[in-house]
Amino acid sequence: MTHKTVVLYPSLGVGHLNPMVELAKVFLRRGLAVLIAVVDSPDKDSVSADALARLAAANPDIAFRLLPVPSCGTHKHHPNPVMRTIGVLRVANPVLLDFLRATPDVDALVLDMFCTDALDVAAELDVPAYIFFPSALGDLAIMLNLPYYYPTAPSSFKDMPETLLHFPGVPPIRALDMVTSLQERGSDIAEARLSQCARMMEARGILVNTFTSLEERALKALSSGLCTPGRSAPPVRCIGPLVLPGNTGGISERHACIEWLDTQPDRSVVFLSFGSLGRFSTAQLGEIARGLESSGQRFLWVVRNPPEHRSSSVEPDLEALLPEGFLERTRERSFVVTNWAPQSEVLRHQSIGVFVTHCGWNSALEGIASGVPMICWPLYAEQRMNKVHMVEEMKVGVVVEGYEEGLVKAEEVEAKVRLVMASGDGEEIRQRLLTAKEMAMDALKEGGSSDVAFAEFLTDLQNRTC
Ligand code: UDP
Repeated sequence: MTHKTVVLYPSLGVGHLNPMVELAKVFLRRGLAVLIAVVDSPDKDSVSADALARLAAANPDIAFRLLPVPSCGTHKHHPNPVMRTIGVLRVANPVLLDFLRATPDVDALVLDMFCTDALDVAAELDVPAYIFFPSALGDLAIMLNLPYYYPTAPSSFKDMPETLLHFPGVPPIRALDMVTSLQERGSDIAEARLSQCARMMEARGILVNTFTSLEERALKALSSGLCTPGRSAPPVRCIGPLVLPGNTGGISERHACIEWLDTQPDRSVVFLSFGSLGRFSTAQLGEIARGLESSGQRFLWVVRNPPEHRSSSVEPDLEALLPEGFLERTRERSFVVTNWAPQSEVLRHQSIGVFVTHCGWNSALEGIASGVPMICWPLYAEQRMNKVHMVEEMKVGVVVEGYEEGLVKAEEVEAKVRLVMASGDGEEIRQRLLTAKEMAMDALKEGGSSDVAFAEFLTDLQNRTC
């Protein structure tokens, strides 16, 4: 199959690009050529040429191509970041089409779940298109069911926040925990997202970054047709967990926080990190700091400037942001990183005892693949739905009370940290995570469920293109 070339087309943002790069590595291991086409927009959150050069240098076997696209015009001022992404991806479509026309021998397209407009490009070129779904299978079960459910819902989700919604394959979910962009029925963003959900049905298959033993109930609902009554969904293949590897570089490349972790006892450190975009108000940072201090636990915390700060790239002034004297009082047992930490490497470190996470799916999978219990603190997008899967279905974590109101109190931070780090319930979750970690490794082994699912996908690709 060495002659096959697959073009991967990620959405904007690190959380979408990272798993695509890991997916590209799987293709390469299987003898296919891959090319990742990365949108470069003047408007928002696209990967810069510098960042792409760094990624390319770290992954010399993968071909990256930057697709410069024009401004998306009025969409770039939309208050909702998802709508801005959708705007950018729309104007990127003709650029992708030209690029693929000029690229010889493309055998298949793998499109991020946000890139469903590019199904038109695939149809125009008569190239088979698959969706890559970089979130939980439970989210896919909900999203494929939404075009059926949404028109019959009694009102907008935002107007019935505590109502329990029932979707096949997942636990009941409060309307307020549904994906942010679908909260208001009839809004342009909800319509756009619903169209994306519906269009996933046009793909030749859906590759999901998860593994079957983690989400058996959702898989059963999807494969038995419960989520898409009257229609068969495209084959759903769980091929994960595709997670960032730890640092494979030499000791000199190690981040200072890893050096610090080396000096900490096993399973003793609380790690707090909230994805590539998560930011908190100064008031919330203060509550977290007070909670960590009174918990008495060691901690590693990634701190960013609050959203009200003019520029996210300005280095945070920790003394000004955190309560007076906090850094000094906790100096012996803490390490505070500004803006970015090597998260997957941190999570693999034996000193980590719990991961406080925003429930982005990459973060959740990295926690699971490392066997680390989680404290779930969802912030935006589909993270509240992931929280439901993680806490109620997989039981790999606990949730902080008060995330819905936008301020989690110090006492709650302290209570949840103590619960996971120093209680019987916490120990039970830890044991469950050790099992989940084993299951994740088994899925990826030769003959494991993800390995087999990927082989089935390749057979389908072979049949379609030979
Ligand atoms: N990440 C990281 N360091 C950080 C924050 C995030 O390496 O300080 C990585 C994290 O390991 C994950 C990705 O960025 O692979 C974030 O993806 P996720 O789906 O968790 O959240 P998103 O950023 O999409 O909200």
